[in-house]
Amino acid sequence: MGRIIAIANQKGGVGKTTTAINLAASLTAADMRTLLIDLDPQSNATSGLGIRKRSYPKSTYDVVVHGVPLASILQPTELEALFVAPASRELVGVTMELANEDNRHQRLSNAIAPIAQDYDFILIDCPPSLDILTVNALVAAHSVLIPIQCEYFALEGVAELMESLKAIRQIRNPKLEIEGVLLTMFDERTNLSNQVMADLREFFGKQVLATIIPRNIKLGEAPSHGRPILLYDIKSKGAEAYIRLAKEIIHGTEKSTGARIERAAGDVRG
Ligand code: ATP
Ligand code: MG
Repeated sequence: MGRIIAIANQKGGVGKTTTAINLAASLTAADMRTLLIDLDPQSNATSGLGIRKRSYPKSTYDVVVHGVPLASILQPTELEALFVAPASRELVGVTMELANEDNRHQRLSNAIAPIAQDYDFILIDCPPSLDILTVNALVAAHSVLIPIQCEYFALEGVAELMESLKAIRQIRNPKLEIEGVLLTMFDERTNLSNQVMADLREFFGKQVLATIIPRNIKLGEAPSHGRPILLYDIKSKGAEAYIRLAKEIIHGTEKSTGARIERAAGDVRG
């Protein structure tokens, strides 16, 4: 079964979507069958992969609210092994529309189950809030990847995010892990970026991923061309960083799967 990773931080503009698009493309380049689920009404991951608004009849809204099969809404991309479940503006109404549904937190999890084995990785791009959509992503996921921008208020909102993760683990998804904290838009020339990095390492310890995403103009430009950085400028620092991130995530997944198997074997041995 594919590893399901939610990319979440309720703070806006920290690099969630940039990470979703470019990690997905880099995983595909490493021969991983990958699905990117866009759960944000802004639909930036959808358009950033070249899928035009209104070119697709159904979106993740129809999946989450009306139980339309996830497999039926998938869109191909320029990369053969990468598919996208596109988002749409209608997602803004989901909180209200599902208010009286008992299983409203499990909608996405239920939708992913029948196709999870078709992919090596399933990434979920979350909106900048801790609303019902993000909760659906965290309930469906094996782990959460938390991008944090290297700027002055980097840690703002992090305590609240940690509280939410704790609550989700307690009541809805006890197996939810932290895939890692990803430093984004890092500028090595500034004291501020370096100070923020030190603060985050102190706060999160080993949970901070070794790969750091630099601030890179090409990463900002690529979405307006509807392409991941790998297809826009493979030689850029941004492309290099996301390729490294994909390797780190694949390696971490192999390690943790190995550890799980060893644990299971230990249980059998008693
Ligand atoms: P939202 O919370 O609105 O969904 P987000 O967390 O998904 O935002 P992005 O859309 O990925 O954040 O990034 C915010 C802006 O910063 C975008 O214009 C994006 O192109 C730009 N950006 C992201 N990462 C980088 C980077 N490493 N270097 C330069 N620009 C970047
Ligand atoms: Mg986004």
